[in-house]
Amino acid sequence: MNIFVLNCGSSSLKYQLINIENEEVIANGLVEKITESISDFKYYRKNNLELEFELEITDHKNAIQLVLERLISEEHGVIENFSEIDVVGHRVVHAGEKFSGSVLITKEVIAALKENIKLAPLHNPANIVGIEASKKLMPKTPDVGVFDTAFHQSMPEEAYLYALPYDWYQENGVRRYGFHGTSHKYVSERGAEILNKDYNKLKIISCHLGNGSSITAIKEGKVIDTSMGFTPLEGLVMGTRPGDIDPGIIPYIMQERNLSIEEVDKKLNNQSGVLALSSISNDFREILEAAEKGNKRAKLAIDIFCRRVKKYIGSYAALMGGLDLLVFTAGIGENAVQIRSKILSELEYFGILIDEEKNNIKAKEAKISSKRSIVDVYVIPTNEELVIAREAKKVMEKYIEDIVKDLIK
Ligand code: ADP
Repeated sequence: MNIFVLNCGSSSLKYQLINIENEEVIANGLVEKITESISDFKYYRKNNLELEFELEITDHKNAIQLVLERLISEEHGVIENFSEIDVVGHRVVHAGEKFSGSVLITKEVIAALKENIKLAPLHNPANIVGIEASKKLMPKTPDVGVFDTAFHQSMPEEAYLYALPYDWYQENGVRRYGFHGTSHKYVSERGAEILNKDYNKLKIISCHLGNGSSITAIKEGKVIDTSMGFTPLEGLVMGTRPGDIDPGIIPYIMQERNLSIEEVDKKLNNQSGVLALSSISNDFREILEAAEKGNKRAKLAIDIFCRRVKKYIGSYAALMGGLDLLVFTAGIGENAVQIRSKILSELEYFGILIDEEKNNIKAKEAKISSKRSIVDVYVIPTNEELVIAREAKKVMEKYIEDIVKDLIK
């Protein structure tokens, strides 16, 4: 079974064609700067860069079409025709409370996703465009939606409710949803697999540290808390988002600086975080470089970022009554040796002891805690596309099973 995984961002498209029987990536790549005058197109065949070029791509449908043409092209292709694509798996950011698992995408599902646009105005529209484009281009191929929020739906009420007027929750859907669920699910399950321990008996904290960052506590297979909330703004300090702040700041600063809702929203989503603290970049590679050269604001940004992660690790371990496994993933979590080292410093009393030599790795699965550490600490590169493909397979198998059951009733 070949599964075509699509991850549509507002101006980008990441894709993978996966043979789910052996989980081999047959082709993958990304298209960036869609809708800008010149877009970047990258296409890999079996992990080797096959094509890279710049051209004008007007929208996501156009981008998907270009990718599909490459997949079947005589020179660069990996399949003969589209009938070799059995399912399309879509990453969808926000399912609200509607879906706690992956689903076959029907007209009703699309309508429900459209209703959720107001909950995820930055992400859901692009996801929906991807779904509609794929339906147009491959009308006979089933589509499955895999939601970032779904994994967190196991959270208890005490974790997802805010101490706000209750009808804000009941009537307006104001609650913690959490994001990066597919990534947290993958790395936590993979961690249990590496340890050869029962996932449903472990206390795990997974730190997804990328441009957007979040941290999740998973106790006995269920999410018991996660740092992103109603929106991806809450929790950790991020590339351009502040994470936790006093909500009183918002009305105060809107009045003081005469800011509109749109302006303050933009400040919080795009102009805060380590970018604002460092005044250099939202990219940790540049911030780390500047800090090494002695830039004080860069150092401060790093300190504040690490302090927040540490604060969450402590509070989540307290909530779970202990910790067995701590996992680092995503751009910073997988690559930033110094950041991991700083977060994990002085946590010995907590049962966490880093091995600096083992920690000196990038972008690969590795244990980075010392033999004396009570808590196992791992770097596990995330693989959201593989989770989406596995989920798509599961949904299709269940769908076929249900049809067969109906037939023999
Ligand atoms: P997202 O998917 O949220 O856009 P990623 O998980 O790809 O983000 O992470 C991107 C971020 O990871 C970059 O902005 C940068 O801060 C960080 N990063 C990537 N590589 C490195 C590296 N070698 N050292 C430090 N930070 C890195």
